[in-house]
Amino acid sequence: MNKLTFRTDRCKGCGLCIDACPKGILAIDENTINPKGYHPAYIKEQEKCIACAMCAMMCPDTVITVEKDA
Ligand code: SF4
Ligand code: SF4
Repeated sequence: MNKLTFRTDRCKGCGLCIDACPKGILAIDENTINPKGYHPAYIKEQEKCIACAMCAMMCPDTVITVEKDA
């Protein structure tokens, strides 16, 4: 399965990655607060990720790393 890794401590919850994802599988985790005081982004449905990396490209804080399944 394609894999996303979030450096959640860097996330400012801006939502740019959520808007960029063509599959609509990213969201803000309202139940978590990171050390910066923001609700971070997370992936709701990892199995639907097509590893296009649009989210990683849009993120201004290089929070997201995308690994494509070989
Ligand atoms: S790699 Fe593409 S499909 Fe996967 S979460 Fe990021 S934007 Fe969405
Ligand atoms: S674009 Fe980056 S900083 Fe903004 S919500 Fe997504 S992961 Fe967090």
